[in-house]
Parts: sequence; structure tokens; C-alpha cells
Amino acid sequence: MSGSDKSWTQNSLPLVPTIIGALLFFSLLSRAIPQQADPAGKIEWIDVHVHLIGGRGANADYERTVKAAVKAMDEAGIKKSVVMPPPQVSGMPALHDYDSFISAIRKYPGRFAFLGGGGTLNPMIQDAAGEIHLEDPVRRRFEATADEIIRAGAVGFGEMTAHHLSHTAGHPYESVPADHPLFLVLADRAARYDVVIDFHLDLVTEDMDLPSRFSSPPNPSILRANRASFERFLAHNRKAKVVWAHAGSDFLGHWTVSLSRQLLRKHPNLYMSLRIGGGVPRNLVFDSGGQIKPAWMDLFRDFPDRFVIGGDQFFASPLLRGSGPGLLFAQRGSFIRKRMLDFLSRLPADLARKIGRDNAHQLYKLKE
Ligand SMILES: [Zn+2]
Repeated sequence: MSGSDKSWTQNSLPLVPTIIGALLFFSLLSRAIPQQADPAGKIEWIDVHVHLIGGRGANADYERTVKAAVKAMDEAGIKKSVVMPPPQVSGMPALHDYDSFISAIRKYPGRFAFLGGGGTLNPMIQDAAGEIHLEDPVRRRFEATADEIIRAGAVGFGEMTAHHLSHTAGHPYESVPADHPLFLVLADRAARYDVVIDFHLDLVTEDMDLPSRFSSPPNPSILRANRASFERFLAHNRKAKVVWAHAGSDFLGHWTVSLSRQLLRKHPNLYMSLRIGGGVPRNLVFDSGGQIKPAWMDLFRDFPDRFVIGGDQFFASPLLRGSGPGLLFAQRGSFIRKRMLDFLSRLPADLARKIGRDNAHQLYKLKE
């Protein structure tokens, strides 16, 4: 990260010797490739699943975090990002929600939209995980928080989770039935406001032993099936649009292309955001030669309106030091962006436009 820190302070003007030179350069360029709006020929896209890591308390620095995000977005042709707090639990040291970064993203009109609830609604649900009957005050507090998030300008709720594996130290294991009463309340709220729920669910179709690459604790040694509760959540309110995060990088092996097809057919309010993984995860979109697998391509063709790009990029303030999960994940940013661009470039133009941009516009009701 130190290499990119330096470029913060650099002014790009010295790269262009004169204004006339610049005009000449761009006019020649536009004549050479008139059909491409972007001089680099990149596809303009929207990432609907982005996290900002600004640090904690009085030292939090979201200004530089957002500046880093905009720089990377410009370089990778990302027109807009939907940013959201990760799905946190009570007692985490840097527990935060949208209010921590909202003023920083407002300095870049048109480049960001946000979701809220990952640091407020999600901890409330995790705290009530074992409660089947909801106390009225808990429900009311939950509803009031959800209302406040939408009033603040959020385009939905996120990142929420019913099952979240811990991948590294400080990264929580979370598990709640997806049809928990508070998730059903959330679905009704999302339907009322016509906004999305960004939903993380590490899918388990039948009980299984924890794969050996995960540590237990914090993960349990047996993972319990959660497909049926997820389907009940989806069916609860068809007007609640659920964007299931991290399609294409499944760590447990149960989220197959054929299961995606079944669920997309059965649940018209289900959408998927693609995180094009490589290496360890299963059910990858790319084959070993870096091409889109035919089964995935068929799925995209059959459900062209149901996929968006959710890179799961983490952007961190260059001032942050340490070894938390957010900083660890932030190191993968350029790799993620490259994979996403590779993915979009391998789709037929109409699908690239829909999955890369138009679906996100429609689903999140983004303004131009
Ligand atoms: Zn997630």
C-alpha cells in the first residue's frame, strides 16, 4: 500500500505538458477510436458491494479512504460504487454504520450510493439469534432504526447476514435462521420502501463438517443446513428484493450453478451479486484457462436481469496500520478489479452492459 500512498499527493497536471497538447492528444484519440467513450476502452461498470475501512473513533479517517476508492474506481472504469458497512456483531472494536462515512462520500456526487444496517440492524439480529418470539420493544427499535437508515438516503439494507464464516482472526462467525422474525420484519421494511437487502449467506444445503481450512472456534465444527430457512425468508414478502452476495466464490461447495438456477426460477425477488473468485472457493465462474464456464454463461443468458457485480472490494485509509481483516482484504483490491474487468470483457456486449451496469441502476434505483 505504500506505493499508492505516494500517489495521493501527486498532481496529475505535470503529465500533460500543455493544454493544447492535451486537446490534440484527446482529439486524435477520439478520432482513432470514435466508438469508445472511454479513452482506455474500458467497460464502465458499477460495483454494488464495496466496504470502506476508515478506522475507529476520533481517529477514523473516511476522507482518505473515499479518496482512495475514487482513484481506484477511475482507474478501473467503475462509474459508481454502492458502499456498506460489513455485517458486524455487538462488541466489535470498530463497530460502525453508514453515518461514519456518509459525509465523506457526499463529496463525490454521483459516484456513490450506500446501504445501512451492517453495524446496527445486523448486530441486533445476531443478538436476538436464539429468540423465537420477539419482544415488542425490540421489534420497534429495529423498525425505527431501519426507517432512519432509509430516511438518511440509503438505497437499501446491508450488509446483513444469516450465516457468515470467519476467515481470519477478528472476522466474526455469525449464524441466525434466515427466517428469524427480525429478518422477516426487515423484508417487510425493504418491500415498503422498495429497496434491496444485501444478504450474505454461506450456503449449507445439508449439515456438514467444517472444512479444514477454517478454524474452530470461532466457527463451529458442524455447519447446519440453512437452505430451507433462506427460501422461507425469500418467500415471506415477494416485494422485498434480496441481493445474495458473493455468487461465484462459494467456500463450502453447496452454492452450485444448478442450485442458483433452481432458486432464481422459484424466487422472482432473488438477485445475485457476483464476486469472481479464484483459487480456493468452489463453483467458480472461470475455468482454469480464465474463460467463463459454459454452465455459468447459460445461467447469465437465462437470467440476464438477475445478476450484478459485487466485487467485495475493501478500501482502507492509507493512514491505517495494523492487521485487521479489513486491511487484509483491502490488499486484494487491484486483483479483484482486474478479475471483474476480465469477467466483463468475456461476456457478450449486451450481457456485459446489463450485468456490469444497467441491472444495478435499476435494482438500486441509481441516478445517472
Ligand atoms: Zn459478505
